[in-house]
Amino acid sequence: MFDYKNIYAQDPDVLAVIKKETKRQSEELELIASENYVSRAVLEAMATVLTNKYSEGYPGHRYYGGNQIIDEMESLAIERAKKLFGAEHVNVQPLSGSPANAAVYMAFIKPGDKVLGLKLDHGGHLSHGHPVNFSGMLYNFTQYEVEAQSGRINMDKVRQIASREKPKIIVAGYSAYSREIEWQKFKEIADEVGAFTFADIAHTAGLIAAGEMANPVPLFDVVTTTTHKTLRGPRGAIIMCRDKYAKQVDRAVFPGMQGGPHEHIIAAKAVAFGENLQSEFKQYAKQVMANAKTMAEEFIRLGYPVISGGTDNHLMVVDMTAKGLSGKEAESVLDRCGISVSRSTIPNDPNPPMNPSGVRFGTPAVTTRGLKTEEIKKIVTWINAGLEHKDEIEVLEKIREEVKEMCLSFPVPSI
Ligand SMILES: *Cc1c(COP(=O)(O)O)cnc(C)c1O
Repeated sequence: MFDYKNIYAQDPDVLAVIKKETKRQSEELELIASENYVSRAVLEAMATVLTNKYSEGYPGHRYYGGNQIIDEMESLAIERAKKLFGAEHVNVQPLSGSPANAAVYMAFIKPGDKVLGLKLDHGGHLSHGHPVNFSGMLYNFTQYEVEAQSGRINMDKVRQIASREKPKIIVAGYSAYSREIEWQKFKEIADEVGAFTFADIAHTAGLIAAGEMANPVPLFDVVTTTTHKTLRGPRGAIIMCRDKYAKQVDRAVFPGMQGGPHEHIIAAKAVAFGENLQSEFKQYAKQVMANAKTMAEEFIRLGYPVISGGTDNHLMVVDMTAKGLSGKEAESVLDRCGISVSRSTIPNDPNPPMNPSGVRFGTPAVTTRGLKTEEIKKIVTWINAGLEHKDEIEVLEKIREEVKEMCLSFPVPSI
């Protein structure tokens, strides 16, 4: 899209790397569930002079002069996000998902307070109380789990833990959970124990915005989402909350967690929200979910256990040990086939997190390229062939060539 002539003239070293990554993205299949491709319009918005401006504060209340136009930009992003999710209040400044979650804890509780979140190796996120993360260091987390047999969250168990622990916040919304989340039940449990409800919809926000999955925004006290996963926007995040919490949430983001917001990224968020509001985006979300269902069915048909037996969203975790492989091995074999995936723990994983038993697969990025049922089936066939012939270089090379051929007939929109 850009001709990059200025980087070329000034800094060929940097351009060389950008070109290589552009080629990789155009010739390889992206099945990492948290990744996607932005549109040209989103990419253009990020490369604007809005990056030059300091705008600490909020529209109408800034700590620097010259922000009248920036105010217009940020207000546009806020209004679109409100419309998209039916939110009372939106803060569009969080730099990414983890800082957004940090701001939520800061807004609602004090260090040392009790919080309930899903365990990382059961599908939760680092920022939901893992000991190596700020969340686990600063707050007193208790972790709930998914059931070993069903791979699903058992709401009776969540209720038991919540009534025993009396947390101040209950967190729902995950990184590697393929089923609908029972928002209403979480709300009931939180009401019983007097906890705030916090939904982190980083992964499924696009499917929720499109009306294809249940929306926690009208029900929960506070909701965060990244903007770069299924929403197909720039890397970043937003926080949505009820009006009565607006002040404390805004204060936690700035000056609590962050200084100046990245207004060029906020412009790109506004452009992405504009796209999310179109009817084409609803079709996209439907196709993402249909593709994930096809993929899960194909894995099961070929003898790969899918955690929870299937998917209601855009992702699935597959247990690779059934085929005599670790998740890490599968990840590196597939890398050689030109297929990017991320290794993942499975519930109660007997193996360590650096070399877990599973692989997480997701369909948001390939669906953006325009792939449908037929191509998804082909991809699972390639994955199976690659894994079954993992030591035969010629087989992996041949798959890589076929992957490239498919990729070139389904170009990435911004390349
Ligand atoms: C991706 C993700 C985040 C974090 O996003 P970053 O932008 O990488 O900090 C937070 N929560 C959940 C559930 C996620 O999946």
